[in-house]
Amino acid sequence: VCIVYWMRMEDLRVRDNRALSLASAQAVKDKVPLLALFVLSPQDYIAHDRSPRRIDFTLRNLQVIKDTLAKQHIPFHTTTHAARATLPEHVLSVLSGWKASHLFSNIEYEIDELRRDIKICELANQSQQVKCTFVHDRCVIAPGKVSTKEGKTYSVYTPFLRAWTPHLTDKPDPLARAPNPKPNDTSIHDHPIFGPLFNTPVPTHLEGFELKPDDVETMRTCWREGEDVAHEMLLRFLYTKSRTSQFAEVNPLAEGAKEPQKDPKKNSRIGKYNEDRDHVNADTTSRMSPYLSAGIISARACIRATMELSEGKKKVDVSRDTGIGRWVQEIAWRDFYIHVLANFPRVSMGRPYQEKFANVQWETNEEQFQAWKDGRTGVPIVDAAMRQGKKMGWMHNRVRMITTMYLVKDLMLDWRLGEQYFMEILIDGDLASNNGGWQWSASTGVDPVPYFRIFNPYTQSHKADPTGEYIRHFVPELANVRGDDVHQPSPNLAKKLNYPVPFVDHSEARARAIRRYKNPGEK
Ligand code: FAD
Repeated sequence: VCIVYWMRMEDLRVRDNRALSLASAQAVKDKVPLLALFVLSPQDYIAHDRSPRRIDFTLRNLQVIKDTLAKQHIPFHTTTHAARATLPEHVLSVLSGWKASHLFSNIEYEIDELRRDIKICELANQSQQVKCTFVHDRCVIAPGKVSTKEGKTYSVYTPFLRAWTPHLTDKPDPLARAPNPKPNDTSIHDHPIFGPLFNTPVPTHLEGFELKPDDVETMRTCWREGEDVAHEMLLRFLYTKSRTSQFAEVNPLAEGAKEPQKDPKKNSRIGKYNEDRDHVNADTTSRMSPYLSAGIISARACIRATMELSEGKKKVDVSRDTGIGRWVQEIAWRDFYIHVLANFPRVSMGRPYQEKFANVQWETNEEQFQAWKDGRTGVPIVDAAMRQGKKMGWMHNRVRMITTMYLVKDLMLDWRLGEQYFMEILIDGDLASNNGGWQWSASTGVDPVPYFRIFNPYTQSHKADPTGEYIRHFVPELANVRGDDVHQPSPNLAKKLNYPVPFVDHSEARARAIRRYKNPGEK
């Protein structure tokens, strides 16, 4: 008999992991061993447009987890199951082979995953051999806890934030206790079934999701694996000073990149976040998204750390006027979109949150879509950002907004094409945040105020990249262009530099978009 913790793609950590902590406590109580399981499911990854970068990052992190758990004598078994339809039966057969009495897992809110877990519970109930416990873990405040007076889910961010904030201090969700250091003793290594599990390595790659050879080094440089790295990234953001040149594809934790500040509330990256966060030509944000979306660090741990930096454990800064407050608000955006995903399953199904925009007429233009993906639209800030995404697997939030708005409102191409492409290239690809961001830009999502958002990409370019350094770095054709031309080269200059001219005139495209949104169904 044993207890099993089933780890998923969004909870790749040992610290502050609810299901793991509960499983460990149960194992100690029942005096039986604790085992951990991870199931690689390639058909799910295809269906959900998981990027090879995200898969590779997952595998690298799983190896770190395996090593960490082994030190606590907890075997960690990774299997691959090809057919997603039979994954519940596969999991139950593994459990049955181990004679597991109780399965613990953190909830995944995506609709396919919820259905799969319901099926597992039903099958487990029928067999009456294994009990299942699924718990909330992904958010700072669990979905369902923040609701309107009528008990409904918020669909606008600002009132959500107002209702979310008191939970941080009035009813704090405690950090989950690390697994009991001794759920298992050393004798488990000699167990005929569990012992050999310590020796099976985590696969280094998954067929069909191999990284391109020139990607391997960049991913390992920019996005190192492991919980310790995630916590170091957090400390770097909270306590050390920004270096302007670090917006590019470098190791953020490299020697010399961290200069501790005497007054971090003012001078560290987070201290400057409120003023600098929309600048893409410097290292202005935390770059924690790959770690948060894979759950390598919990969002709760991030909030706790900001509380320690500001007023102590009893108060949390969510002010719009401070760097700490602004950053906490970003973590709240993450929670907000997960709550939306959990409560409105249609957003997992490729449908607009606002059904009235389901009929907006999109253009079909493969050439323009390809140019957008390749960073060859002729709009420098869009091209720089798209090339950053392709190269680094990550983009700054401001340029995610600019590029998505450009695809949807200027080129009038369906937001779902772009949503899928982002998932395919980003290392932090996450359905809730990605879908939330795309629907925000497409004006089809929650929070529909103002009714119609549209960015002028050239004005945005000046604000986001005032020095033009970001564009020059990612668009080498423009490396020697000085002054305003870097934001909007003239057709003559573009021709001379072998740089494309834009497909559309922004004001004409703007008028077309407004017309189509006003009259969904009409061209
Ligand atoms: P910071 O500015 O340091 O913010 C800290 C954390 O807050 C982030 O790591 C993230 O977890 C959260 N956060 C910040 N902004 C947002 C936001 N707008 N929505 C939700 N959470 C937020 N984020 C992802 O993690 N995965 C995605 O797939 C993703 N896709 C996006 C697609 C679009 C179109 C847009 C507009 C945004 C998307 N975001 C996504 C949100 C945001 O762009 C990234 O989280 C952010 O750029 C990551 O950089 P950072 O970690 O330095 O952020």
